[in-house]
Amino acid sequence: MEKEVGERGNEVPALPDLFAWTEEGVRLISARCNTCGTYFFPAYHSQHRPGCSREGVEEVLLSRKGKLASYTVQYYMPPPPFKTDREITPYPIGLVEFPEGIQVVGIMVGCDPDKLRVGLEVETTTFTLYKDDEGKDVVTWAYRVLNE
Ligand SMILES: [Zn+2]
Repeated sequence: MEKEVGERGNEVPALPDLFAWTEEGVRLISARCNTCGTYFFPAYHSQHRPGCSREGVEEVLLSRKGKLASYTVQYYMPPPPFKTDREITPYPIGLVEFPEGIQVVGIMVGCDPDKLRVGLEVETTTFTLYKDDEGKDVVTWAYRVLNE
């Protein structure tokens, strides 16, 4: 699997093993059970279908793009452990359905909350939360609307 985890340039992930920088862009790290076909995110969060033998679980990267399945707009700062030194309210949170069939929630960046609608195509990106003691940008995954 072609991926680059850990850090990229001046960016470091806020939490490990959730997304990867690839040649195609940012992609979420998932796992797929080859017995029951279920995808998991985070990859270690594996709730298999009842009776699954759980054999052949492998790490996979989700597609970079997905479709907005639902969203909401929050007018208050996210509670801990979420940490940012930026004033981000109001901000949309999107539930994105990936072609693999799994839905993952994330902050939406660079979009007008009033223009969001279910079905919009989005891509995975990163969002800078704060700078760490070494001056690096600590980032999490986020979604950006394509062709708004
Ligand atoms: Zn399974």
